[in-house]
Amino acid sequence: MIEKLDHAKPLPVILKPVPDELLSSWLRRHATFYGLKQSEFLRHLLSDSAGRLLRVIDMQLPQSAAERLGRFLRCDQAEILRMTHWDLATEARWFVSPEPIQFCPACRSRALELGGQDAVLRGAQRGWRITCSLCGAKLSQLPKTGEDDWRGIGADVEIPTAIWEEAAEGERLLEQFLTKNDEAAAAAVATFRMLLVPRPHLPNAHPEQDYKLRAVDALLPGIDAFAAQNNIPCRWTNHVIAPLRIRSSLLAGFRRLLEKPRPRFHILRSVTLGHYRLRLETLGEQATPILGPLWFS
Ligand SMILES: [Zn+2]
Repeated sequence: MIEKLDHAKPLPVILKPVPDELLSSWLRRHATFYGLKQSEFLRHLLSDSAGRLLRVIDMQLPQSAAERLGRFLRCDQAEILRMTHWDLATEARWFVSPEPIQFCPACRSRALELGGQDAVLRGAQRGWRITCSLCGAKLSQLPKTGEDDWRGIGADVEIPTAIWEEAAEGERLLEQFLTKNDEAAAAAVATFRMLLVPRPHLPNAHPEQDYKLRAVDALLPGIDAFAAQNNIPCRWTNHVIAPLRIRSSLLAGFRRLLEKPRPRFHILRSVTLGHYRLRLETLGEQATPILGPLWFS
């Protein structure tokens, strides 16, 4: 098939992208359409080594590659760029999952209607989102490989309304920092990590409280018990990318910390011990660009 593709001309058939589709997803769908391996197809489109990996293409697309892809796919290079995570600061990469982890049920139905059943939207990898940036609907966790239930795992997340509103505000604030510049994004990542610092149980804790506690539990009591009751694993593949079912609570905690940085930092500090407290303090320093100085003078 590859000999049928001209090295200088646009592809003979160009598939229509679905709204907000990731560039890597669009390219992957073309590779499948032309019966080629992704690596073969990318080698054909991009002769240089820059951006041969689909992950690199989404995170950091060189200008020359955007121009070249634009020519092959008959579209403006600015459109090509908009299909990547172009709007994120480099430091925001900690929040971008290498694989799709979630989807919007409403937008997925629309993608199916448009013939893009395998399309992956930009929001699918954005590990701080709880709502769809296209239509505002709640996101659902992607079924694990082998499962075929697209009805929406986690669509019925049990989140109290009050928390949900705070979480939506936390999502908006976090996105603002992640898209602002590297300094703000790095500070936002540090702020979020402060919430995840482990804390010990009280000496008189009930023996059933054998789950892991995080500092955020001091700002939103009950979040760790909720995670334990809902069998949410303690360890996540990507450190700051929380499972969707507790992400809302963490975003609400993020908002609370931003609202009153100093007193809430001291609450977090008071519930941590030893090297975890040191970690919290180091993160607090890194978060200064958005939280301000955290020590009472
Ligand atoms: Zn949507």
